[in-house]
Amino acid sequence: MSTRNFSGVIGELVQGQWQDPRTGEKRTVPIENIVIADTLDGAEAELIKRAHPGNSLAVVCDERTRAVLGERIFRALQPLGSVTEFVWQNPRITPEGIAELAQGTRDAEALIAIGSGTISDSVKYGTFLDGREYSVFATSPMNAYTTPTASVSLNGFKQSLTCHSAKGVFFDLGVVSKCPKRLIAAAFADVVCRTTSQVDWLASHLLFGTAYDETAYTLLAYDEEAMIASAEKIVSGDFEALAMLTRIAALMGLATSFTGTTHVGSMAEHMISHYIDMFAGKNHPHTSHGEQVGVATLTMSRLQNQILLADQPPVFEPTNIPVDDLRARFGLTAVEMITQTERKALDRRKADVLNEKLQAEWPRITERLRAVMLPHNTLYEAMKKAGCQLTGADLGLDPEFYRDAVRYSRFIRDRFSFLDVAGDSGQLEAFALSCD
Ligand SMILES: [Zn+2]
Repeated sequence: MSTRNFSGVIGELVQGQWQDPRTGEKRTVPIENIVIADTLDGAEAELIKRAHPGNSLAVVCDERTRAVLGERIFRALQPLGSVTEFVWQNPRITPEGIAELAQGTRDAEALIAIGSGTISDSVKYGTFLDGREYSVFATSPMNAYTTPTASVSLNGFKQSLTCHSAKGVFFDLGVVSKCPKRLIAAAFADVVCRTTSQVDWLASHLLFGTAYDETAYTLLAYDEEAMIASAEKIVSGDFEALAMLTRIAALMGLATSFTGTTHVGSMAEHMISHYIDMFAGKNHPHTSHGEQVGVATLTMSRLQNQILLADQPPVFEPTNIPVDDLRARFGLTAVEMITQTERKALDRRKADVLNEKLQAEWPRITERLRAVMLPHNTLYEAMKKAGCQLTGADLGLDPEFYRDAVRYSRFIRDRFSFLDVAGDSGQLEAFALSCD
């Protein structure tokens, strides 16, 4: 059987051959080798030789990813000469963890990470700190493999730090298809956030003239419609459907390289997920980023559909920042929340200007936004078929806590979203009450 290569448009991108149809410009990305294939069995050494010519190597895995793929990769790389294996017993992205990784791989010039968020992010961050290069073999479809950022715990606070990109990112769909269904559903949930983040970002651009870049959306659009229509097949392990999800996840991770910001796939739906991580405390249900973003995407989709399908535009009032309420609820964190909100807050004059604009241009504005919005029901049905959680209660959250996430997450970041549209036009409280 010959290997089917599913890299598609990503293949053109990594070679600098993809031409943006809107501008005619050729675009590329900071990763030279991204391969998505139904199997990479037998191709491993060649891929790594191309990415790290002549380097001594260390394969980094934990017990789980070793069993799934690491052992196979270690064996396959033997012909390349100097290859060691570091089976990390307790992978963690803390200063101690990174020191352990550096010690365990000290003889290697380049590292090969095997799967999982923690292994891949640790290797990304660790090699960035000590100036080595790395590649990664994926064990699930995830945006994180192709991003230049790592989620690092410093002094107990989780932070997203920009470090560097991999030399190579390799997806063997035979391996990826065997990952837990829950991870596939979460990856699906984390990429369908495009359907609401683009509406938020474009609205901010249309209403306030903020910067906006469509390059990544053009790329994501090659597969999105078919992927959403194939939601059921993705979880049943169909390779073509899984390849669509994998391509979209990889492109999502690359999106920051076009814009230099995370706006493409991180607007209000991500703010709601961050709110859950920041404030659920001991009641956090240990749900993953993707699972939370999926539920929040459905919430934002319902809100955006409600506002943008109305005949009349919302009427804005000056932003009311509930300073005393924020201080009472969030303590010291409220200081930063108030600062973030002040940056996007409307005063009387701005609200009046906005209302005039909306009165004059509502049909034109809604036409642009509806064109990139998905009907709420289409999204809901697809997520249900992919096995995603659909409500805060499905995540295991107290519905009242989730309603607070909808009410207050607009205050954690200065990005203007439909939570602000609803908040500043007196619709947010009624909407929050309809959430569970
Ligand atoms: Zn995300």
